[in-house]
Amino acid sequence: MKITCWGARGSIPVSGPEYLKYGGDTTCLEVRSSAGDVVVVDCGSGVRRLGNRLVEEHVRDITVLFTHSHWDHILGFPFFKPIYNAENRITFHGCPFAQRSIRTVIEKIMEPPQFPINLGAIRAELAFNDPCLEGVSVGSLKIKSIVLSHPNQGLGYRFEEDGKAFVFLTDNELDFQHPGGCRFRDYADFSAGADFLIHDAEFTEADYKRTRAWGHSTFGQALELALAAKARRFGLFHHNQDRPDSEVDAMVEDCRRIAAARHSPVECFALTQETVVEL
Ligand SMILES: [Zn+2]
Ligand SMILES: [Zn+2]
Repeated sequence: MKITCWGARGSIPVSGPEYLKYGGDTTCLEVRSSAGDVVVVDCGSGVRRLGNRLVEEHVRDITVLFTHSHWDHILGFPFFKPIYNAENRITFHGCPFAQRSIRTVIEKIMEPPQFPINLGAIRAELAFNDPCLEGVSVGSLKIKSIVLSHPNQGLGYRFEEDGKAFVFLTDNELDFQHPGGCRFRDYADFSAGADFLIHDAEFTEADYKRTRAWGHSTFGQALELALAAKARRFGLFHHNQDRPDSEVDAMVEDCRRIAAARHSPVECFALTQETVVEL
């Protein structure tokens, strides 16, 4: 399994010299099976560059999952070039988020006057599987989901292949249970033994004094989850839009210091919009 991050920023795309290391594109991950099956998770602004790569590689079958329908996770969809090629097949899986189906979410993104063209401009064959994701397989990738603790809910995912596990939990507040969301213990069980865990680590402890209940975790809370789950690698994700590279570096240093003090071998780092991890 190969995981590529195409966007690690939260809330809104950013640019500027202070963001060069971790990047400005919002959430988009690509998970590839060992046989080359492609699963896209979220269509934040990072999906534009992923789409260009998939066009270059002539990838025809693409599966798309959404964590939830907040803007930063869907806004890149109209710029995902594979949707405009009639030879492509795109399959969506997911739960209705805040009572709306995936099809409705996509229709809302591509709807005049907010956008000049609508869903009718899409040439690829689209398939929507709206029943809640109990567990689905894409090639040899087995995918499970868990409801996030986040305003308007959402889903986190666990991918397994060849005895390796990758868990992706973004926009998840571990210290506050939003309606429909789970508890810390549930997320720890879901993440148990992960070879790689990516978790929302948007805030510092100082931020959290005023951002509690906004739907995101501190990097310290996320590290506690990595430790409880005995994850091998832990990636900080959903970097705040006002967080320059130097501050993300400082969070990573803190994480490493805490993990070492706890005698944990977990490897801490922060996702960039070019991170590639092979399991
Ligand atoms: Zn977000
Ligand atoms: Zn969100």
